[in-house]
Amino acid sequence: MSTTKPNILLIYTGGTIGMVKDFKTGVLRAFNFKNILKRIPELNLLDCNIDTVSFKEPIDSSNMNPEYWVQIAELIEKHYHDNDGFVVLHGSDTMSYTASALSFMLENLAKPVVFTGSQLPIGDLRTDAKENLITSIQVASLQHRKKPVIKEVCLYFEYKLYRANRTTKINAEHFEAFASLNYPDLAESGVHLKVNNEYLFKPNVNKKLVVHKNLDKNIALVKLFPGISEAVLQSVFNTPNLKGVILETYGAGNCTTEAWFINILKNAIKKGIHIINVTQCSGGSVIMGHYETSNQLKKIGVISGKDITTEAAVSKLMYLVGQNISHNAFKISYEIALRGEIT
Ligand code: ASP
Repeated sequence: MSTTKPNILLIYTGGTIGMVKDFKTGVLRAFNFKNILKRIPELNLLDCNIDTVSFKEPIDSSNMNPEYWVQIAELIEKHYHDNDGFVVLHGSDTMSYTASALSFMLENLAKPVVFTGSQLPIGDLRTDAKENLITSIQVASLQHRKKPVIKEVCLYFEYKLYRANRTTKINAEHFEAFASLNYPDLAESGVHLKVNNEYLFKPNVNKKLVVHKNLDKNIALVKLFPGISEAVLQSVFNTPNLKGVILETYGAGNCTTEAWFINILKNAIKKGIHIINVTQCSGGSVIMGHYETSNQLKKIGVISGKDITTEAAVSKLMYLVGQNISHNAFKISYEIALRGEIT
């Protein structure tokens, strides 16, 4: 590899982007990702050296799980010093979960990790894959005085670069499949690639990368709805070994004030289960105590997820439970931004 151009590692985990249509049968199948440079000769025009590595068996991202997150983190860890940036190709369905998880797992990250994918396979005539892939590589290659411009985990899709742990998949049909409702775009791709420097994450670049691999899956996610029954809620909280629950509440963090509901939560907190209040709204924030219908939650010790996305809330919970810290330290860490995930 030449030393003057940035080295970029493409990590293929699976998803539509790496599939081609069999013209005879119409069936989508994965192609050998090692051949990507042959399939997309445009990549050779980019001002960087590209290397590729692929999951042995690429997956549809609906099969994603924390064990695969660790695999991705380990690939980045293994190739960290030899590369200036990373582009992770991933199915769009759970991309926000994986990318959020990686943001917590890669502490003191000082290089770009850009997640991307596509709604149509790379071989499709109307594909969105080429633009997403090419611009993601360009974003990962951006340098200022030989140092990466982006130093965080982000997600590029349909002309926009977002902070990964602020994103949600909002559309299964449109090319614009993701949104970041509580944080501005990090960059926009038009005639020029416009980076919004003021919104970029500024890590302490003198600290060494720490890769956290201990994620605890003993958590649950409960979305409230009018009429949710005591039996259903109790069964979730009775789950053996349960360590934490994300409660998706209404509006600014509100919920029913019925005694049975509050009692279940109170007992769970007494048993040491962490309960996080996250709003069902795609935009805006939990403000506990703003309404009477959230004041009780505050009093019994429910943790505020503020304006975190559900996707980031899930992986932050797995990450912090895996840290084995005291309940107090847990609450403090959850309620502050560790990787820019909370305003
Ligand atoms: N089901 C696919 C996946 O998430 C969709 C996509 O690739 O965007 O892997």
